[in-house]
Amino acid sequence: MVSRVIPVDPFDLVIFGATGDLARRKILPGLFRRFCAGQIPEGSQIIGAARSDMDDASFAEMVAEAIREFGGGRHCEDGTLDQFLSLLAYVPVDAMGSDGWQALGARLGDAPVRAFYFSVGPSLFGALAERLRQYGLADDDSRVVVEKPFGHDLASARALNETLACHFAEEQIYRIDHYLGKETVQNLMAVRFGNMLFEPLWNAQYVDHIQITVSETVGVGGRGSYYDRSGAMRDMVQNHLMQLLCLIAMEPPARFEPDAVRDEKLKVIRALDPVPPHHLVRGQYDAAEGAPGYRADVENPRSRTESFMALKCHISNWRWAGTPFYLRTGKKLRARASEIAVVFKDAPHSIFGSEAGRHRNVLVIRLQPNEGMTLDVTIKEPGPGGMRLVDVPLDMSFAEALGPDGEDVPDAYERLIMDVIRGNQTLFMRGDEVEAAWAWTDPLIEGWEARNDVPKPYDVGSSGPDDSLMLMHRDGRKWRDIRP
Ligand code: NAP
Repeated sequence: MVSRVIPVDPFDLVIFGATGDLARRKILPGLFRRFCAGQIPEGSQIIGAARSDMDDASFAEMVAEAIREFGGGRHCEDGTLDQFLSLLAYVPVDAMGSDGWQALGARLGDAPVRAFYFSVGPSLFGALAERLRQYGLADDDSRVVVEKPFGHDLASARALNETLACHFAEEQIYRIDHYLGKETVQNLMAVRFGNMLFEPLWNAQYVDHIQITVSETVGVGGRGSYYDRSGAMRDMVQNHLMQLLCLIAMEPPARFEPDAVRDEKLKVIRALDPVPPHHLVRGQYDAAEGAPGYRADVENPRSRTESFMALKCHISNWRWAGTPFYLRTGKKLRARASEIAVVFKDAPHSIFGSEAGRHRNVLVIRLQPNEGMTLDVTIKEPGPGGMRLVDVPLDMSFAEALGPDGEDVPDAYERLIMDVIRGNQTLFMRGDEVEAAWAWTDPLIEGWEARNDVPKPYDVGSSGPDDSLMLMHRDGRKWRDIRP
């Protein structure tokens, strides 16, 4: 099955920070793949902007290299790349000064859609927004895309929202959480709200608990100084895991429209109970076999920042009262895997007796690797020898379903950028959502800072600190095995 391409209007897209890591790894290769899919219409322009002194040709060279390195696929060599490069331009611009702004204005065309992607550090968002207005580059129809992190706490997120609001209306602001652009995440909504099968069971009466895991094998990489000021709670839980939690837990919106969906997500965040300290586990990976530990990686021998976080939380509303949600995320763990598992309750009575064992339906929504969903269903083990039960997954892998090599499954960034061009904010965070998420996480962070909490060490390649296993064990449950 080849995915259908829905045309968009011609656009002028300016990428501030076009020479940076995110632009080279995700944004520009993503735009190229949409071009290959025939989704970038004639008359569109992609303009890179950063301080580096470059002309159009050297920018195109840099972009070609990035696309080859980060997944341009088979179209890199067949002339399509050259056609794509002809859409590009580059203007040196200083976000904090006056250099380049008039030249940038002169390069902009009159395409029906004008969007500005702020792929730069958040400290530049305000300066960019202000200058876009000051130099007349943006009007009330323009769109701005802002990257994470959106604030460091509630106060800074609020200040950022206020700064952006001085120049742009909420309908013009697209706050990216790339987890929302993943095919599986949207499929979660399709499965929940497009089928009769799941929604009647989607509540405390039938769901025993929910696990959300985002496990990474990599360490902090070159982001040590940023990460050490942030930690797993701010870097992952406050945004990505919270967004997944919202989509799993929200009420059905009346329509699949931006504010209808985001209103429901906001209600979930606001219904989250505070988390007591004994439901929080913070960890930090240890040095092992010559490999440096977290503190060496971030060059801070006394760091108390967590590279692992697990927590148990509750949503106080009618649907979820009493159902625990377990969240965990960490670096340098055993496997790279992100998934949501909805674990249903046991059948009320087993007609097969205790020797048949305990069997549960588990719906697993796999975000990576190999995006897809499985539903564990209990069946009879084939063959003679009585009624032995076994759990068998009904497996739906999107790469298999959508194309032979999975190339037809668009990357999250591709989808989100096209949504910006379409003017669809459904998969972007609204300002009040981000603030509500910080309002929930801030007291947890302040709590462990006040207690001088020291994160628990864990081995590289493990599943995190033992306390995380105990968090589940105490409740008679266990984390799903995350395998390499
Ligand atoms: P980066 O590699 O440090 O790139 C920063 C970019 O900003 C460069 O192109 C830099 O180019 C430009 N820049 C810096 N100061 C500027 C100024 N005064 N005026 C104009 N341009 C300026 O950062 P990144 O990793 O691409 O990240 C960009 C944003 O995305 C950050 O907010 C980051 O948190 C977020 N993000 C990144 C990733 C990722 O995987 N990298 C993932 C999620 C979110 P010049 O030096 O030439 O000006």
